[in-house]
Amino acid sequence: MGLYDSIMVPCPKCGYRNEFQTKSGPCLLNTYQIEDAPDDAMLDVNRHAPTKCHVCDTMYSAPERPTAEDSLRSEVDRLRALVHQACDWLEARTDKQARIFHAAHIRAALKEGK
Ligand SMILES: [Zn+2]
Repeated sequence: MGLYDSIMVPCPKCGYRNEFQTKSGPCLLNTYQIEDAPDDAMLDVNRHAPTKCHVCDTMYSAPERPTAEDSLRSEVDRLRALVHQACDWLEARTDKQARIFHAAHIRAALKEGK
């Protein structure tokens, strides 16, 4: 009966954590930080959004939390960038044909998603 949970969401401008009320979770007047709010409570975190920051008046909505797949994808991107850096290093430090060939081989494998 009119119960809800609160999720504290930092303002993107000043960082103050404003309260976002949600009715999709247990609704026991629990207060969560957005980083560890339960998934079900997050479902309608933006039911009243955009919300006005109490400190700086910025109107904002809670950001979508990254899924495990998003995290995995960004980790793969990071590792790919690292391998490209290694290839750059390899190519810049040798004029030996064999090493340039290896760098090209690695880059080709990356493009194919291996
Ligand atoms: Zn603010």
